[in-house]
Amino acid sequence: MTAKWMRRSTYASENELYRDQRVAPADQKILEETLVLYDRIRGLHGGPLLINSGRRSAEKQEELRKAGYRAAKFSPHVWGCALDVRVPEGKTDEYLVALLFGGAQLLGYDMPRVGWRNYRNGKSSSTFVHFDFAYLLPLESIPMGARKAWLVRGLTW
Ligand SMILES: [Zn+2]
Repeated sequence: MTAKWMRRSTYASENELYRDQRVAPADQKILEETLVLYDRIRGLHGGPLLINSGRRSAEKQEELRKAGYRAAKFSPHVWGCALDVRVPEGKTDEYLVALLFGGAQLLGYDMPRVGWRNYRNGKSSSTFVHFDFAYLLPLESIPMGARKAWLVRGLTW
């Protein structure tokens, strides 16, 4: 299985996907399943769905770690297969989670890995939902220390 990559999305702007300016032009691409699922849930939602974070450089990830965010040593954002979608006004994180799992099912995809509960910070809803298809990356490109978690389809946290 070969991973396929896309630079553009129907709904997301390149500014949102590649906001981190240290992402090299050659790396300005996102795993196909990730962008297609985003576009599908954006269509299902029927209004703007902002992306807080798309592809990140390794430098950006290290900065987030040092700044004390809940940022992993290895992040699927750096590998271009993850997006953080902002919870729209008047909705909850569970609304986005349902869209993600429902959208994946409509597309005939296996389930994405989705994170929201750990980002609630004591509130009833997080402000964004992370999703990725890290298990679709070429195995040899996945860092050893991340394999155990990244290869679990449908993992939630
Ligand atoms: Zn994320």
